[in-house]
Amino acid sequence: VLELDGIAKRFGSEDVIGDLSLAVRDGEILTLLGPSGCGKTTTLRLIAGLEKPNAGQVRLQDETVAGDGRFVPPEERGVGVVFQDFALFPHLTAHENVAFGLQEWADAERDARVDELLELVGLADHGDDYPDELSGGQQQRIALARSLAPEPEMLLLDEPFSNLDVDLRVEMREEVRRIIKETGVTAISVTHDQEEALSISDRVAVMNDGDIEQIDTPQQVFQQPESRFVAGFLGHAS
Ligand code: ATP
Repeated sequence: VLELDGIAKRFGSEDVIGDLSLAVRDGEILTLLGPSGCGKTTTLRLIAGLEKPNAGQVRLQDETVAGDGRFVPPEERGVGVVFQDFALFPHLTAHENVAFGLQEWADAERDARVDELLELVGLADHGDDYPDELSGGQQQRIALARSLAPEPEMLLLDEPFSNLDVDLRVEMREEVRRIIKETGVTAISVTHDQEEALSISDRVAVMNDGDIEQIDTPQQVFQQPESRFVAGFLGHAS
């Protein structure tokens, strides 16, 4: 679905991403795990088309969307993004938030699609609620439904649980994984929290200083770290 090939990204004189290559498999949930400042969010923004690489290529469904003189803008990439703060529109109901990306759809189809998604995220009875009438977990469900509504090829989640209470995080990790798996969408999540990476991912890519140190199943990465950095990061972070 997605390939990054030799990606480099500089901000001013700072090399944030050095020479990053990554292939994401159809239907998997891949988590980019690493310490603050290692370039996780920048990688996500490069995939979404919110940043342009200085070198290398981004390919989605075998189409080059960045690199080789080409740049496909974010809205044409078929990529949904769930932001850290959910970014719901406060003046729109839950139903209207989910419908937001479906403005080109016929009314009946759009309403049916929104109802299907509200059902999927367990909020069929909350379509008329405004975001401030919803709990944090419910707001996250709506944000997820809104991103999934236009049937993206790929879903990107930036620190999806950081705005939730600790108790709710565990419940929502399972829910987010369930919802993603039910739709079959390929997903990339970003976190510095190893428990989160372990619980939601099919594979984990441990990042350090703009590069991937190890990429494997969560079990393999946690049980058989391949470098001192990976062992140290997993041993010390909690
Ligand atoms: P965090 O978890 O803290 O967000 P991260 O691993 O997601 O960390 P990035 O947000 O990708 O890391 O940032 C990597 C580096 O790039 C940081 O040093 C950051 O200051 C720098 N950086 C990111 N975006 C910009 C920008 N638009 N302009 C300048 N520097 C930037």
